[in-house]
Amino acid sequence: MAVSVIRSNTRQAASAFTPRAKARGISADLSMKGDTMPFTPFHIGPALLIYSLLLFIDPFALIFGSTFPDLEGFAYFITNGTTPHGPLHSIIGATLIALITATPTSIIAWKIIENASQKKIRAPSLKITVASALLGAYSHIFLDSLLPKIFYGDVNLAWPFAYWTPLLDAVTPEQMYLFCTASFIAGTIIILIRTRNKKISNNNVQDNQN
Ligand SMILES: [Zn+2]
Repeated sequence: MAVSVIRSNTRQAASAFTPRAKARGISADLSMKGDTMPFTPFHIGPALLIYSLLLFIDPFALIFGSTFPDLEGFAYFITNGTTPHGPLHSIIGATLIALITATPTSIIAWKIIENASQKKIRAPSLKITVASALLGAYSHIFLDSLLPKIFYGDVNLAWPFAYWTPLLDAVTPEQMYLFCTASFIAGTIIILIRTRNKKISNNNVQDNQN
């Protein structure tokens, strides 16, 4: 979901097709940069929900992986790019962005935390970090690929091969916003409860050992 316009009135948006954009299957809204709002942060909601269920994974890599595919959306906004959802919104592109940017960024983030922290912090293993970055990036392109064609018709999961985005138009932007927001709230609550329980059980183990 990127850096893209989400309008409640899709009919209004449909009427905004220009011949050139229409020929490419891309909404004119995608080329109306001033009339857009960032959607990228909403990807953090589902990432938090995933982390709440899989606390052993790397949260940084997961969040970086789930937001970095939209780097091309930002590039589109600040340049004369033709589309906000290009190669990075594909299975191959998401894999590359996870391996080349999200994984190293996460490793750096853990190093910074380790250096800044008084306590000993154990960073996740490289295998976990890579898997988390991939999970985040795939969750991003999966969610984007469900959205309306009018905004996301340029997502080709099979890039550089023939167009293949089978679930396009499966949900409305409103449903996606709701899901992402609910995921953020549910994920945060579950993480708080599970980490609290973990702390309590760790303390109990320590008390029993003493
Ligand atoms: Zn996106």
